[in-house]
Amino acid sequence: MPVHTAARVRRINPSPSTAAAQRVRELKSQGLTVLDLTVGEPDFDTPAHVKAAAIEAIEAGETKYTPVNGTSRLRAAITAKLRERHGLDVTDARITVGGGAKQVIFLALMATLDEGDEVIVPAPYWVSYPDMVRANDGVPVVVDCPEADGFKLTPQRLAAAITERTSWVILNTPGNPTGSAYTTDELHALAQVLLAHPQVHVLTDEIYDEIWYGDQDAPSLATVEPGLADRVFLTNGVSKTYAMTGWRIGYGVGPTDLVTAINTLQSQTSSCPSSVSQAAAAAALSGPQDFVRDTVRVYRARRDATVKLVNDIPGLGCTVPDGGFYLLVNCREVIGQFTPAGVRIENDEDFTRYLLDSRQVAVIHGTAYGAPGYFRISFATSTDVLTEACERLASACAALSAAPAASAPSA
Ligand code: PLP
Repeated sequence: MPVHTAARVRRINPSPSTAAAQRVRELKSQGLTVLDLTVGEPDFDTPAHVKAAAIEAIEAGETKYTPVNGTSRLRAAITAKLRERHGLDVTDARITVGGGAKQVIFLALMATLDEGDEVIVPAPYWVSYPDMVRANDGVPVVVDCPEADGFKLTPQRLAAAITERTSWVILNTPGNPTGSAYTTDELHALAQVLLAHPQVHVLTDEIYDEIWYGDQDAPSLATVEPGLADRVFLTNGVSKTYAMTGWRIGYGVGPTDLVTAINTLQSQTSSCPSSVSQAAAAAALSGPQDFVRDTVRVYRARRDATVKLVNDIPGLGCTVPDGGFYLLVNCREVIGQFTPAGVRIENDEDFTRYLLDSRQVAVIHGTAYGAPGYFRISFATSTDVLTEACERLASACAALSAAPAASAPSA
């Protein structure tokens, strides 16, 4: 008798990046050299002083349960970051720490959504948002944000999407997969719409805020409109900034009643985040920041080189991301063309399959992010890999034709 799975599980899918990683492993096991541009994590090692802090914590016996909402040391480090970076003065009761930003976001939705409550998810979106909403009985209301709008939600589109059932709007800035970030003026304009709808809360996912290429810090909605202070839940973590994806520490800052509800859920699920990882995260946030400066310099060089290479390929194009380590590449021109084997490329998924099978370049199709006609490249990999991958992309595009070759087998 198969195990009965709950409706909430049947409503959701495993992450497409996990599926892509599986396909890459299969091809590698066949002896093929796959250039993997699917990876959503830094290709750097966690800084040495962070590892040392974790080892010290183990040796000092910090191996027990911690407070549900995180150690006071880590919460103090988060408070200091919020003060320094955003000028926010946040009381301890407004902070919760969890097993990655992903878990914090999930618990925030679990703590607030009743069946049928709506969550506005601007597309392109991080793959997990719609499924997290569905898993928690909510309804994702996907709002298309085209490239012409910089892949960003406009006040008009936001206003049109809000209903009486709207519980949350999710703003991911800088965003995955687009790299687009909202300016202070854009956030201000969105805030004006939100002020008129007191039932709507805003979850800002700022996990890429430090992987940032602008001159001034990435702005945060939490500071732009003080009138929304009690409606913004700011989430962030150490995974991307400090190359700590495996340590699983993220945090959320928001209204006390929301944070208390999240803490209650956490107390009944994981009890607390890992004590050792919290010691490491505190060291990352409060220690020297050279690692961040150095890695952002490397990412910037890769971004600039890869954007140029991609934009030199006939049929492909991308805009320059403001932050993060992804490019969302427009491949609409190749859709409808034929491969040398006579197969018509019907959509972005067909194109990414063709890239993988014919050139062993692994990328993720845009439809997974609510962006049909695009694919995502991660530049969290070496310049050599990026350069070689772009050469293969160019040769894959050049091999396509407007009509099937006369001798090609029919698709
Ligand atoms: N938010 C976005 C936009 C992400 O891309 C990711 C990871 O890919 C996360 C959140 C999750 O981060 P964490 O490792 O802290 O759970």
